[in-house]
Amino acid sequence: MKPTNGAAVTKEVPTPDTGELVVLSKVNKHFGDLHVLQDIDLTIARGEVVVVIGPSGGGKSTLCRAINRLETIDSGEIVIDGKPLPAEGRELAALRADVGMVFQSFNLFAHRTVVQNVMLGQVKVRGKSRKTAEERARRLLDRVGVATQAEKYPAQLSGGQQQRVAIARALAMDPKIMLFDEPTSALDPEMINEVLEVMRQLAHDGMTMVVVTHEMGFARSAANRVVFMADGRIVEETTPDQFFSNPRTERAKDFLSKIL
Ligand code: ADP
Ligand code: MG
Repeated sequence: MKPTNGAAVTKEVPTPDTGELVVLSKVNKHFGDLHVLQDIDLTIARGEVVVVIGPSGGGKSTLCRAINRLETIDSGEIVIDGKPLPAEGRELAALRADVGMVFQSFNLFAHRTVVQNVMLGQVKVRGKSRKTAEERARRLLDRVGVATQAEKYPAQLSGGQQQRVAIARALAMDPKIMLFDEPTSALDPEMINEVLEVMRQLAHDGMTMVVVTHEMGFARSAANRVVFMADGRIVEETTPDQFFSNPRTERAKDFLSKIL
Protein backbone atom coordinates (compact mmCIF):
# COMPACT_ATOMS: atom_id res chain seq x y z
CA MET A 1 0.00 0.00 0.00
CA LYS A 2 1.33 3.40 -0.93
CA PRO A 3 1.94 5.74 1.98
CA THR A 4 -0.41 8.69 1.89
CA ASN A 5 0.58 12.31 2.47
CA GLY A 6 4.20 11.51 3.16
CA ALA A 7 3.57 9.33 6.19
CA ALA A 8 6.02 6.44 6.32
CA VAL A 9 3.84 3.40 6.61
CA THR A 10 5.21 -0.10 6.64
CA LYS A 11 2.50 -2.50 5.69
CA GLU A 12 2.81 -6.16 6.43
CA VAL A 13 0.42 -7.01 3.66
CA PRO A 14 0.82 -6.80 -0.09
CA THR A 15 -1.18 -4.34 -2.12
CA PRO A 16 -4.44 -6.05 -3.07
CA ASP A 17 -5.36 -6.93 -6.57
CA THR A 18 -7.86 -4.74 -8.33
CA GLY A 19 -10.18 -7.69 -9.01
CA GLU A 20 -13.36 -7.78 -6.97
CA LEU A 21 -13.90 -10.92 -4.94
CA VAL A 22 -16.93 -10.00 -2.84
CA VAL A 23 -19.46 -7.33 -3.75
CA LEU A 24 -22.35 -6.36 -1.51
CA SER A 25 -24.89 -4.01 -3.05
CA LYS A 26 -27.69 -2.34 -1.09
CA VAL A 27 -27.90 -5.21 1.37
CA ASN A 28 -30.71 -4.99 3.92
CA LYS A 29 -31.54 -7.28 6.79
CA HIS A 30 -34.14 -7.00 9.55
CA PHE A 31 -34.69 -8.97 12.70
CA GLY A 32 -38.32 -8.10 13.36
CA ASP A 33 -38.44 -4.33 13.75
CA LEU A 34 -34.69 -4.07 14.01
CA HIS A 35 -32.98 -2.93 10.80
CA VAL A 36 -29.62 -4.65 11.35
CA LEU A 37 -28.07 -4.10 7.92
CA GLN A 38 -29.05 -0.88 6.19
CA ASP A 39 -28.20 -0.43 2.53
CA ILE A 40 -24.76 -1.95 2.91
CA ASP A 41 -22.49 -1.41 -0.10
CA LEU A 42 -19.10 -3.03 0.26
CA THR A 43 -16.57 -4.32 -2.23
CA ILE A 44 -13.67 -6.49 -1.20
CA ALA A 45 -10.79 -6.95 -3.60
CA ARG A 46 -8.79 -10.13 -4.01
CA GLY A 47 -6.03 -10.18 -1.43
CA GLU A 48 -7.51 -7.33 0.53
CA VAL A 49 -7.61 -7.32 4.33
CA VAL A 50 -10.63 -5.44 5.64
CA VAL A 51 -10.98 -4.87 9.35
CA VAL A 52 -14.53 -4.19 10.53
CA ILE A 53 -14.84 -2.37 13.81
CA GLY A 54 -17.60 -0.67 15.70
CA PRO A 55 -19.80 -0.77 18.78
CA SER A 56 -21.54 -3.92 19.93
CA GLY A 57 -24.87 -4.53 18.23
CA GLY A 58 -23.84 -2.58 15.11
CA GLY A 59 -24.35 -5.51 12.74
CA LYS A 60 -20.77 -6.75 12.28
CA SER A 61 -21.54 -10.40 12.97
CA THR A 62 -24.68 -10.28 10.86
CA LEU A 63 -22.63 -8.88 7.99
CA CYS A 64 -20.17 -11.79 8.21
CA ARG A 65 -22.98 -14.30 8.54
CA ALA A 66 -24.72 -12.84 5.50
CA ILE A 67 -21.58 -13.19 3.39
CA ASN A 68 -21.41 -16.85 4.41
CA ARG A 69 -25.18 -17.16 3.96
CA LEU A 70 -25.60 -18.27 7.56
CA GLU A 71 -28.19 -15.47 7.50
CA THR A 72 -30.46 -14.71 4.59
CA ILE A 73 -30.84 -11.10 3.52
CA ASP A 74 -34.11 -9.24 2.88
CA SER A 75 -32.96 -7.26 -0.14
CA GLY A 76 -29.88 -6.34 -2.08
CA GLU A 77 -27.27 -8.62 -3.54
CA ILE A 78 -24.12 -10.42 -2.47
CA VAL A 79 -21.82 -11.65 -5.22
CA ILE A 80 -18.88 -13.90 -4.39
CA ASP A 81 -16.31 -14.36 -7.13
CA GLY A 82 -18.88 -13.54 -9.77
CA LYS A 83 -21.56 -15.83 -8.35
CA PRO A 84 -24.62 -14.22 -6.79
CA LEU A 85 -26.19 -15.29 -3.52
CA PRO A 86 -28.76 -16.52 -2.68
CA ALA A 87 -27.92 -19.90 -3.99
CA GLU A 88 -29.41 -23.19 -2.97
CA GLY A 89 -28.48 -26.83 -2.63
CA ARG A 90 -25.19 -27.81 -4.19
CA GLU A 91 -24.44 -24.32 -5.40
CA LEU A 92 -24.86 -22.90 -1.91
CA ALA A 93 -22.67 -25.63 -0.41
CA ALA A 94 -19.96 -24.81 -2.95
CA LEU A 95 -20.17 -21.08 -2.22
CA ARG A 96 -20.00 -21.72 1.51
CA ALA A 97 -16.95 -23.90 1.09
CA ASP A 98 -15.27 -20.95 -0.63
CA VAL A 99 -15.84 -18.76 2.42
CA GLY A 100 -13.88 -19.81 5.49
CA MET A 101 -15.24 -18.63 8.80
CA VAL A 102 -13.63 -18.42 12.22
CA PHE A 103 -15.80 -17.49 15.17
CA GLN A 104 -15.18 -16.22 18.65
CA SER A 105 -16.05 -19.66 19.99
CA PHE A 106 -13.82 -22.17 18.32
CA ASN A 107 -16.57 -24.61 17.33
CA LEU A 108 -14.27 -27.58 16.90
CA PHE A 109 -15.78 -31.06 16.88
CA ALA A 110 -15.23 -32.17 20.48
CA HIS A 111 -15.23 -35.89 19.76
CA ARG A 112 -12.71 -35.74 16.94
CA THR A 113 -8.97 -35.33 17.30
CA VAL A 114 -7.30 -32.16 16.09
CA VAL A 115 -6.07 -33.74 12.87
CA GLN A 116 -9.50 -35.29 12.22
CA ASN A 117 -11.08 -31.86 12.68
CA VAL A 118 -8.90 -30.49 9.92
CA MET A 119 -9.46 -33.52 7.65
CA LEU A 120 -13.23 -33.81 7.85
CA GLY A 121 -14.36 -31.05 5.48
CA GLN A 122 -11.67 -31.91 2.97
CA VAL A 123 -13.02 -35.46 2.72
CA LYS A 124 -16.74 -34.72 2.99
CA VAL A 125 -17.01 -31.47 1.06
CA ARG A 126 -13.97 -31.39 -1.19
CA GLY A 127 -14.01 -35.15 -1.85
CA LYS A 128 -10.33 -35.70 -1.11
CA SER A 129 -8.94 -39.10 -0.12
CA ARG A 130 -8.20 -39.56 3.58
CA LYS A 131 -4.49 -39.79 2.85
CA THR A 132 -4.39 -36.52 0.90
CA ALA A 133 -6.57 -34.82 3.51
CA GLU A 134 -4.38 -35.99 6.36
CA GLU A 135 -1.18 -34.83 4.69
CA ARG A 136 -2.68 -31.42 4.07
CA ALA A 137 -4.09 -31.28 7.62
CA ARG A 138 -0.67 -31.96 9.11
CA ARG A 139 0.97 -29.33 6.92
CA LEU A 140 -1.62 -26.76 7.97
CA LEU A 141 -1.32 -27.66 11.65
CA ASP A 142 2.39 -27.13 11.28
CA ARG A 143 1.77 -23.78 9.61
CA VAL A 144 -0.34 -22.55 12.53
CA GLY A 145 2.12 -23.97 15.05
CA VAL A 146 0.16 -26.83 16.58
CA ALA A 147 1.58 -29.86 14.73
CA THR A 148 2.50 -31.56 18.00
CA GLN A 149 -1.12 -31.43 19.16
CA ALA A 150 -2.52 -33.35 16.18
CA GLU A 151 -3.59 -36.48 18.07
CA LYS A 152 -5.20 -34.65 20.99
CA TYR A 153 -8.85 -33.73 21.45
CA PRO A 154 -9.85 -30.05 21.37
CA ALA A 155 -10.56 -29.88 25.11
CA GLN A 156 -6.93 -30.84 25.80
CA LEU A 157 -5.70 -27.70 24.03
CA SER A 158 -5.48 -24.11 25.22
CA GLY A 159 -7.93 -21.59 23.76
CA GLY A 160 -5.23 -20.09 21.58
CA GLN A 161 -4.28 -23.51 20.24
CA GLN A 162 -7.93 -24.38 19.58
CA GLN A 163 -8.43 -21.17 17.65
CA ARG A 164 -5.36 -21.90 15.55
CA VAL A 165 -6.79 -25.34 14.79
CA ALA A 166 -10.05 -23.65 13.79
CA ILE A 167 -8.08 -21.46 11.39
CA ALA A 168 -6.28 -24.51 9.96
CA ARG A 169 -9.61 -26.26 9.53
CA ALA A 170 -11.03 -23.31 7.61
CA LEU A 171 -7.89 -23.05 5.45
CA ALA A 172 -8.09 -26.76 4.63
CA MET A 173 -11.13 -26.02 2.46
CA ASP A 174 -9.00 -23.76 0.25
CA PRO A 175 -11.34 -20.81 0.79
CA LYS A 176 -11.25 -17.79 -1.47
CA ILE A 177 -11.90 -15.54 1.49
CA MET A 178 -11.60 -15.91 5.25
CA LEU A 179 -14.03 -14.23 7.64
CA PHE A 180 -12.96 -13.78 11.23
CA ASP A 181 -15.61 -12.71 13.73
CA GLU A 182 -13.84 -11.53 16.88
CA PRO A 183 -11.45 -14.47 16.79
CA THR A 184 -9.53 -13.41 19.88
CA SER A 185 -12.36 -12.07 22.06
CA ALA A 186 -12.77 -15.29 24.05
CA LEU A 187 -9.04 -15.77 24.62
CA ASP A 188 -6.92 -15.07 27.65
CA PRO A 189 -4.65 -12.10 26.96
CA GLU A 190 -1.47 -14.15 26.67
CA MET A 191 -3.00 -16.19 23.84
CA ILE A 192 -4.26 -13.33 21.73
CA ASN A 193 -0.96 -12.66 20.03
CA GLU A 194 -0.31 -16.21 18.90
CA VAL A 195 -3.62 -16.13 17.03
CA LEU A 196 -3.09 -12.63 15.62
CA GLU A 197 0.35 -13.72 14.45
CA VAL A 198 -1.16 -16.55 12.40
CA MET A 199 -3.65 -14.06 10.93
CA ARG A 200 -0.88 -11.58 10.12
CA GLN A 201 0.98 -14.31 8.31
CA LEU A 202 -2.13 -15.20 6.32
CA ALA A 203 -2.61 -11.56 5.38
CA HIS A 204 1.02 -11.38 4.39
CA ASP A 205 0.59 -14.46 2.18
CA GLY A 206 -2.16 -12.66 0.27
CA MET A 207 -5.33 -14.20 1.70
CA THR A 208 -8.46 -12.12 1.28
CA MET A 209 -9.75 -11.46 4.77
CA VAL A 210 -12.59 -9.74 6.58
CA VAL A 211 -11.73 -9.41 10.25
CA VAL A 212 -14.11 -8.17 12.91
CA THR A 213 -11.89 -7.28 15.83
CA HIS A 214 -11.23 -4.88 18.67
CA GLU A 215 -7.50 -5.43 18.26
CA MET A 216 -6.49 -2.03 16.98
CA GLY A 217 -2.84 -3.02 16.71
CA PHE A 218 -3.83 -5.68 14.21
CA ALA A 219 -6.01 -3.21 12.33
CA ARG A 220 -3.15 -0.73 12.09
CA SER A 221 -0.54 -3.19 10.97
CA ALA A 222 -2.43 -5.69 8.83
CA ALA A 223 -5.49 -3.99 7.36
CA ASN A 224 -5.65 -2.37 3.95
CA ARG A 225 -8.94 -0.79 4.92
CA VAL A 226 -10.99 -0.14 8.03
CA VAL A 227 -14.77 -0.31 7.85
CA PHE A 228 -16.46 1.34 10.80
CA MET A 229 -19.97 0.02 11.35
CA ALA A 230 -22.59 1.35 13.72
CA ASP A 231 -26.37 0.95 13.92
CA GLY A 232 -26.46 -1.27 10.85
CA ARG A 233 -24.64 1.16 8.60
CA ILE A 234 -21.15 1.61 7.25
CA VAL A 235 -20.36 4.96 8.80
CA GLU A 236 -16.75 5.31 7.67
CA GLU A 237 -14.52 3.38 5.32
CA THR A 238 -10.91 4.38 4.93
CA THR A 239 -7.27 3.42 5.49
CA PRO A 240 -6.24 2.47 9.03
CA ASP A 241 -3.90 5.48 9.22
CA GLN A 242 -6.63 7.87 8.22
CA PHE A 243 -9.18 6.26 10.49
CA PHE A 244 -7.08 6.22 13.63
CA SER A 245 -5.39 9.58 13.19
CA ASN A 246 -8.24 11.52 11.67
CA PRO A 247 -11.69 9.93 11.92
CA ARG A 248 -14.24 11.97 10.01
CA THR A 249 -17.45 11.30 11.91
CA GLU A 250 -18.46 12.06 15.49
CA ARG A 251 -19.62 8.45 15.81
CA ALA A 252 -16.15 7.13 15.02
CA LYS A 253 -14.43 9.73 17.21
CA ASP A 254 -16.68 8.78 20.08
CA PHE A 255 -16.01 5.07 19.56
CA LEU A 256 -12.26 5.55 19.34
CA SER A 257 -12.17 7.72 22.47
CA LYS A 258 -13.70 4.82 24.38
CA ILE A 259 -11.41 2.08 23.19
CA LEU A 260 -8.02 3.70 22.66
P1 ADP B 1 -22.32 -6.95 16.34
O1 ADP B 1 -21.67 -8.17 15.85
O2 ADP B 1 -21.83 -5.70 15.67
O3 ADP B 1 -22.25 -6.82 17.83
P2 ADP B 1 -24.76 -8.26 15.52
O4 ADP B 1 -24.70 -8.40 14.05
O5 ADP B 1 -24.44 -9.48 16.34
O6 ADP B 1 -23.86 -7.02 15.97
O7 ADP B 1 -26.20 -7.80 15.95
C1 ADP B 1 -26.84 -6.67 15.43
C2 ADP B 1 -28.19 -6.54 16.08
O8 ADP B 1 -29.03 -7.59 15.66
C3 ADP B 1 -28.16 -6.60 17.59
O9 ADP B 1 -29.10 -5.70 18.09
C4 ADP B 1 -28.55 -8.02 17.89
O10 ADP B 1 -29.17 -8.12 19.15
C5 ADP B 1 -29.51 -8.32 16.77
N1 ADP B 1 -29.54 -9.74 16.39
C6 ADP B 1 -28.49 -10.46 15.96
N2 ADP B 1 -28.85 -11.72 15.66
C7 ADP B 1 -30.19 -11.79 15.89
C8 ADP B 1 -31.18 -12.82 15.75
N3 ADP B 1 -30.85 -14.03 15.29
N4 ADP B 1 -32.44 -12.51 16.09
C9 ADP B 1 -32.79 -11.28 16.54
N5 ADP B 1 -31.91 -10.28 16.68
C10 ADP B 1 -30.62 -10.51 16.37
MG1 MG C 1 -20.56 -9.63 16.82
